[in-house]
Amino acid sequence: MLWHPSGVYSVGFDLDLTLADTRAGITAAMEALALRLGVAIDPAVVVARLGPPLETELAHWLPAADVPAAARLYREMYAGIAVPMTTLMAGAREAVDAVRANGGRVIVVTGKNAPDARRTLDALGLRVDAVEGSVFGAEKGTALASFGAAAYVGDHVGDIAAARAGGTVSVTVATGPYTAGELRDYGADVVLADLTHFGGWFDRWRTGAAHP
Ligand SMILES: [Mg+2]
Repeated sequence: MLWHPSGVYSVGFDLDLTLADTRAGITAAMEALALRLGVAIDPAVVVARLGPPLETELAHWLPAADVPAAARLYREMYAGIAVPMTTLMAGAREAVDAVRANGGRVIVVTGKNAPDARRTLDALGLRVDAVEGSVFGAEKGTALASFGAAAYVGDHVGDIAAARAGGTVSVTVATGPYTAGELRDYGADVVLADLTHFGGWFDRWRTGAAHP
């Protein structure tokens, strides 16, 4: 689907390590969780593979039966511990503004639960049109399709699968667990070093100078 200046189109964005640098906050929240549960969790390992749902991550550290309660406890602490420590990724505000300034809608489609995703966006002062939470990989595609998203911007190979499933252009930034080469090898349509390069690409794309 190409950008159409006369229509209302949406661009989807992932949250963690695409728009929001959640590494310090997640490190602190994971340290607090490990302390509360008396289990070993290495936050450096956790933040090096951010993207999949919390339950998937916790299953690496806890017996399966303990994961739901641990996830509840983590989420109880997340707003107080992690959200205030979260910062903008370079170029995030400008990328969101570029879409909105051209009449587009910005949809955040994230593995994070929707309430914490909204709190994070509010704390960062990012204004978006909709938030769809608790989805990952191809599940994100359903959300992207329902919003008629023209592109999905993410940092994880799961976000490329999401874009494919949603029938959208896959735009990636090498600011998460994957290098630019890995994202390209996985089949991303567009690979950017970071979101500071989004505006330039977006202008070429929406005016038809770049395919995609
Ligand atoms: Mg991400």
